Amino acid sequence: MALADTQLRRNLGHATATIRRKRAAVVGELPDWQELREAGRAIKERVLRHLDTYLEELEASVRRAGGVVHWARDAEECNRVVADVVKAHGQTEVVKVKSLTTDETKLNEALAAEGIDAWETDLAELIVQLGEDASSHILVPAIHKNRAEIRELFQRTLDVDTSGLTDEPAALAEAARLHLRKRFLGAKVGISGVNFAVAETGTVCVVESEGNGRMCLTLPEVLVSVMGIEKLIPTWRDFEVFLQLLPRSSTGERMNPYTSFWTGVHRGDGPGEFHLVLLDNGRSRVLADPVGRQTLNCIRCSACLNVCPVYERTGGHAYGSVYPGPIGAILTPQLEGLDRAGTLPYASTLCGACYEVCPVKIDIPEVLVHLRAAVVEHKRAARRLPGPEAAAMEAMAWVFADRRRYELAQKLARVGQLPLARSGRIRRLPAALSGWTEMRDAPAIPAQTFRDWWRSRR
Ligand code: SF4
Repeated sequence: MALADTQLRRNLGHATATIRRKRAAVVGELPDWQELREAGRAIKERVLRHLDTYLEELEASVRRAGGVVHWARDAEECNRVVADVVKAHGQTEVVKVKSLTTDETKLNEALAAEGIDAWETDLAELIVQLGEDASSHILVPAIHKNRAEIRELFQRTLDVDTSGLTDEPAALAEAARLHLRKRFLGAKVGISGVNFAVAETGTVCVVESEGNGRMCLTLPEVLVSVMGIEKLIPTWRDFEVFLQLLPRSSTGERMNPYTSFWTGVHRGDGPGEFHLVLLDNGRSRVLADPVGRQTLNCIRCSACLNVCPVYERTGGHAYGSVYPGPIGAILTPQLEGLDRAGTLPYASTLCGACYEVCPVKIDIPEVLVHLRAAVVEHKRAARRLPGPEAAAMEAMAWVFADRRRYELAQKLARVGQLPLARSGRIRRLPAALSGWTEMRDAPAIPAQTFRDWWRSRR
């Protein structure tokens, strides 16, 4: 569907090309970029090797600073903790910012089921929410929409005067600001995601571009932050590495416009109650896989999406996951299982562009190939008899194993293709093979193969 939507492909192509150019320019400014990437990878791998120790250190640090720590094994436990905090304060409305993790747990839907409205305050997330749409990019969830589409959406849905609204970015941002101000001033509970949490001090960090996040983090009386257990860094000093890697890789900026830190609670300064929810939801399982565990190094910068030729043409919705693009293709199958997301590791050309840009050096092609092998094993284990695909592969392997068999098969296929081939191409293959030519032509077997040509010259 996405391939047929030319407007979506135009919006995506324009946006990803712009971010790619900006990223390349600011990364090129740093002579030690490769050393920084290596430092980022090394810190994250140390975290994963000692995750249990660092998590306990983080828990103790947050408690020491006056915060409350909750452990959530899965999405349901996480959503229950958040809903209980909101209900304990008698609230039916909360403001939210920057939380892919709560998209993963479907927190908004869970809160709605308890009669609680959750208002997204990040501009792009607000656009997705108002349009009853789904996010299609980690960093720019509404990347598939252009300005004219957003103007039309705001005129239809915002509870502020939009009669003279133009599609200038400043005008759209102002309309959203007026709408959000009412939410910020009314909400008693704020919910945030977490970019990093420091084990040694219990400090939590969110980076963002608009300042709406800071409003969400400081104005409400109660703050609940939800983080995946892999978002840890050991020390405050480690920020030095990640606060250089992240903005340059994500938005192509030298530093984030807003970087907010908070540590526990402080009387008369910010929320008087702070809860940190540590979410597993399949991450321990990922950690146990020696190849797949590098996926947990991800700092959600989205650089891999912006360079991916598959993502650029299909958009994020095609991945059917909160995490689209190359990172989604390796993270989602590991978190949700191969039954649900076993096709995603194939949504790649294995060109390696994602690995080249990844600021923490996740070898995404290596994990993709590893997961493809796991999918084959998984399917084999699930059937007692080989399926049609496995049988076809066995037959191919038998033919390819012997030169004479291979050449005979070529001859037979050359005769068999006669009613189908025109000008060296086959536009439609029959029956079970027809899926192959639904979107593209197949090359016909040539009249003379390389082997025939070679023999004719001797
Ligand atoms: S996999 Fe690497 S490039 Fe992709 S979002 Fe994660 S950190 Fe960024």
